[in-house]
Amino acid sequence: MDADGLARASEVVTFPIPTGPHHEMEANLPQVVTIGEILVEIMAEERGPGFREPVHLLGPFPSGAPAIFIDQVAKLGQACRIISCVGDDDFGWVNLDRLQRDGVDVSGVARLPDQVTGSAFVRYRDNGDRDFVFNIKNSACGQLRWTDTTPALLSQCGHLHVSGASLFSPEIVEMVVKAIETVKANGGTISFDPNIRKEVTRDLQVRAALAAILASCDIFLPSGEELTILTEAKMPEAAIAELLRLGVTAIVVKEGADGSTYHDAGGSLHAPGYSVEELDPTGAGDCFGATFVTCRLQGRSVEECLDYANAAGARVVTIRGPMEGTSTFTQLDELRSKFERNRRSHDH
Ligand code: ATP
Ligand code: MG
Repeated sequence: MDADGLARASEVVTFPIPTGPHHEMEANLPQVVTIGEILVEIMAEERGPGFREPVHLLGPFPSGAPAIFIDQVAKLGQACRIISCVGDDDFGWVNLDRLQRDGVDVSGVARLPDQVTGSAFVRYRDNGDRDFVFNIKNSACGQLRWTDTTPALLSQCGHLHVSGASLFSPEIVEMVVKAIETVKANGGTISFDPNIRKEVTRDLQVRAALAAILASCDIFLPSGEELTILTEAKMPEAAIAELLRLGVTAIVVKEGADGSTYHDAGGSLHAPGYSVEELDPTGAGDCFGATFVTCRLQGRSVEECLDYANAAGARVVTIRGPMEGTSTFTQLDELRSKFERNRRSHDH
């Protein structure tokens, strides 16, 4: 599909302008934008290895790291948009319907008549590992690229979020790098969640793109080995110093059930996690990042941003389905006050 075809296809989106409860919040600038894959997730109900035998399946659930991120931003009442592609099929509908209902502007999502919406089949093993069957690169979102309509979709953007998971084609890498330049030139900010494994960084082209994105990001959101995966330094403390020297303003390290730690030139701050029963870990990192970024854009203190983000990450893992547990401020405040009460009753 050429650039023109994609531009035309994006005009056939027929979803109406959002009119839900979040609509009045759209004046709450800056607009947050993300670019990347929209997928459905279909999960095996029983644990076990892979998909080499018939299993009971649950889904389709709306998914894709950028989609989960932007849905969480919308739930917090922030104006936001996703730039992506889906097929003209039910899997695309499931996503667009959900995103739109939650307040995401989906006018930058092209519905491509000859393509199929991306999918991820996931099955958990007893030890917590996951097996996947992905259809991403060869799905509708594999057609994502910079077109004549992209600048207009970025014209209101005050903050762009990039997930490393989205950098699966040279065209998307090029689009993301161009989008970062555009948003930065307009005075906007960038967040980057690497969402990568070590093997991915062996591809030299991807590695170069990751380095460029890292160098231009304001908020870096790694977890585990991702903190040191793109740095020369191999120890966490040295890696943080290196990232700050590179120009990253803030590094927020996600630490699973332990919570998270914020680092900037002024120092570090740890916030403990919420003790919850983890039912489905998918989406934790995306909801955490979305909540931290949104709270920061709203001018909240680092301490409060970390606490809200920990609450969002904790809440989503208690609910099955990657986007089913995205949270409103009311829901996050409920969780926070429940734990605050528990903490106080322990103190007595
Ligand atoms: P993902 O698997 O989505 O990529 P991640 O590795 O990027 O996740 P995690 O550290 O697993 O990030 O989760 C992000 C945040 O969500 C954590 O920092 C924490 O606040 C919260 N969180 C995740 N898992 C749990 C848990 N089991 N209990 C409480 N909070 C959790
Ligand atoms: Mg992650």
